[in-house]
Amino acid sequence: MKILVTGGAGYIGSIATECIIKAGHDAVVYDSLYMGHREAVHPDAAFVEGDLCDRALLNDCFQQHQPDAVMHFASHTQVGESMEQPFLYLGENVKNALNLLEVMDQHNVRRFILSSTANLFDDPETIPINEQERLVPGSPYGESKFIIERFLHWLRITKGFRYACLRYFNAAGATAQRGEDHTPESHLIPLVLQVALGQRDSLKIFGDDYDTPDGTCVRDYIHIADLAKAHLLALESLENTECCHYNLGNGAGFSVKQVIDTAREITGHAIPAETVARRAGDPATLVADSSKIRTELGWQPDYPSLESIIQSAWDWHNQHPHGYSGK
Ligand code: UDP
Repeated sequence: MKILVTGGAGYIGSIATECIIKAGHDAVVYDSLYMGHREAVHPDAAFVEGDLCDRALLNDCFQQHQPDAVMHFASHTQVGESMEQPFLYLGENVKNALNLLEVMDQHNVRRFILSSTANLFDDPETIPINEQERLVPGSPYGESKFIIERFLHWLRITKGFRYACLRYFNAAGATAQRGEDHTPESHLIPLVLQVALGQRDSLKIFGDDYDTPDGTCVRDYIHIADLAKAHLLALESLENTECCHYNLGNGAGFSVKQVIDTAREITGHAIPAETVARRAGDPATLVADSSKIRTELGWQPDYPSLESIIQSAWDWHNQHPHGYSGK
């Protein structure tokens, strides 16, 4: 199978590409390099540098490479930024996805995997959160993914699209070759490791007065390779099913303080941390019930422990202390 990977130079997309190629498929990466890194693109993948707003280029790309399916990662992805720049998210994320879907349709490519988000569950009634939970986007970012999920619903009915929406909880960790390199960095684990590398003096804990066992937010960290593996399983499942939605996490929650303590053990660094005010938009607890994908697709994490996730991230950050640029 040949799979077009939008955002294949980014953190999750580049590791999904690695997984696709390891499984013996072909990959075409389409990425503007706005946030992604050319060095992160797998050497065996074809690469097209371009923006999803460029319809002519997208069209050429489909014409030239004739993919069988699309995995769509390219997106603005920060909840906090989306609260400050809603038009960027409600505009570009949505318009770019629509462009992509329309060009797919014109080329008779109708298998699609959406990189979706736990930010659809802003006010869960039940934790761990399963797929029956009502969808309440928590930000313009979450709303943009919600809208794309709705597009897919209608494109299935009207155009015969087959699709999977994978709602990620907290993607973390690294493979030997690829890891997390965002500028600016906003995610907990890479920030903690930057302190351990001596690149930051201390970590800010955003609030310790939440209704959780130690007062800090609880999240469900899933290893990036396990997340990538789920994409291929979901794509294969579209042979037999028209659409599916899966919540993807390990099913275990860890607090910010537990993450810092585990990183202290792994790195041997004191990792000073100070508590500051809550960050806007952070729910207290987000933990996935991933039993549906385990039962239906036989998905199982290879790296279920927080230790193995942080260790893999630490190994990568040690090898790439300044990310892909090496600067
Ligand atoms: N967090 C923190 N300090 C930081 C970055 C993150 O305390 O410098 C907390 C954040 O408030 C959240 C958790 O760590 O509760 C995970 O945040 P991250 O941005 O990694 O992922 P999110 O859950 O927002 O997708």
